[in-house]
Amino acid sequence: MKYQINAINLIKEADAVAIFAGAGMSVDSGLNPFRGDDGLWTKSIIIDGKTYNHLDLMSHHAFIDTPKIAWEFILNLREKYHQTSPHEGYFKLLEILKDKEHFIVTSNIDEHFLKAGFDENRIFECHGSINYMQCLDILEREVWLTPDIHPMKLETNNLPICPNCGSVSRPNVLLFGDWFWIPIRSTHQQIRYNNWCKEIKEKNKSIIAIELGAGKTIRTIRNTAETFASTHYPLIRVNPFDFDIKKPNQISIQMNAKEFLMSLM
Ligand SMILES: [Zn+2]
Repeated sequence: MKYQINAINLIKEADAVAIFAGAGMSVDSGLNPFRGDDGLWTKSIIIDGKTYNHLDLMSHHAFIDTPKIAWEFILNLREKYHQTSPHEGYFKLLEILKDKEHFIVTSNIDEHFLKAGFDENRIFECHGSINYMQCLDILEREVWLTPDIHPMKLETNNLPICPNCGSVSRPNVLLFGDWFWIPIRSTHQQIRYNNWCKEIKEKNKSIIAIELGAGKTIRTIRNTAETFASTHYPLIRVNPFDFDIKKPNQISIQMNAKEFLMSLM
């Protein structure tokens, strides 16, 4: 409780807030995490009487070997993201940050920060977005919006294709064991994020970092948050699991993201 009060005061007084959101933020809206102990990758799915492991379907090679099944899986996932509303914690956060400098870094591919009303120029999706697709050929350096095809209406002759070469495309997200992701969109967002960090740190404002629901399986979000805060700025780590901290400028709060955000004034 003491730590929570400290965190609330830090947030109130901060001029600039960097948010680092992992799978836990999406889980609180009722979405299955992609990775992690209970992630989609641990589960299997039956399509046309055959059992497929999610891990195999979320790989670059699935879009070469079984493109219809792989796309069906991704479009179903996207449908679920579209039908689910961001939980109320997103809106609370938006209200808290409206008069503060802020930037969102997230590994979630569901675009729920954008859906909740956050400025797209202040979001860095470090694993991409499910709404974009790319060519299987990594020499093509472009990404496109995935066409709106309902998974139930997907056929071998209407699979999302690359507008450049006409071959089957794949989602522009970091898949498992993925050497073929074209992170061009994410890189642009990262440049904006890096510039923002430089700018706020030069202005020497009261700066804090808040990490929400970021686990240890894939450490991208934790590492990015720790790098941002370094030893100079307070880092508030909010997570029901893996809430351990290592430095004096870090505050650990054992809560889920939504519960914590809703506890803020
Ligand atoms: Zn192509």
